[in-house]
Amino acid sequence: MNLARRRLQGIFDRLLRAHGPQQWWPGESVFEIMVGAVLTQNTAWRNVARAIDNLRRAEALHPAALLAVHPRRLATYLQPSGYFNVKAKRVRAMTRWLLDAGGTAAITRWPTVRLRAALLAVHGIGPETADDILLYAFNRPVFVIDAYTRRIFSRLGLVSGQEGYETLRAAFEAALPPDAAVYNEYHALIVAHGKDVCRVRPCCETCVLRRGCRYARSGARLSDS
Ligand code: SF4
Repeated sequence: MNLARRRLQGIFDRLLRAHGPQQWWPGESVFEIMVGAVLTQNTAWRNVARAIDNLRRAEALHPAALLAVHPRRLATYLQPSGYFNVKAKRVRAMTRWLLDAGGTAAITRWPTVRLRAALLAVHGIGPETADDILLYAFNRPVFVIDAYTRRIFSRLGLVSGQEGYETLRAAFEAALPPDAAVYNEYHALIVAHGKDVCRVRPCCETCVLRRGCRYARSGARLSDS
């Protein structure tokens, strides 16, 4: 791995110039962002937005109100986001945990290490979802690793892409100052770049990261991870 601060800052600057501020995360409350983080697992955001609209219309975007919805009805609200039965269970588990813990006002005072460990113990919340919640709902300086991060940074030649989640997260956090605003924007820019430019079939000709990219230099065609 070769994640030097200067290199990461240069990549951030170029991505920001290319894509502009992303202003993540769309959501009107901490709880809505938490629900969105679970629903976005394995699906595009436009599908999540439709599911959240259903919850909003049903006035179920509050913890107690959501738990009062019958599980089968909840699953129908979540249908646009895919895997809706699984996600209904996960959203309910997270909401029950949240209420047991005292609600968002209580857990927002918890230190990041405690909050992260508690989130990871909730059914259906893995490291990426937990870190989405920590960063975007609770403004904690936690660097989110996803498939786009692995694809872009492995093509650039800065990581192998096979590292474990915690190894990559720790490496990014060691290289960058702990600034939640920067981590917020950086992850959003990585997603924008992974969707629009460094796709499975990358558009290297128009890419602002082309200079210094190992993949573009070699012309290799790596399979998407
Ligand atoms: S130059 Fe190509 S492979 Fe490299 S980051 Fe850009 S799109 Fe991805």
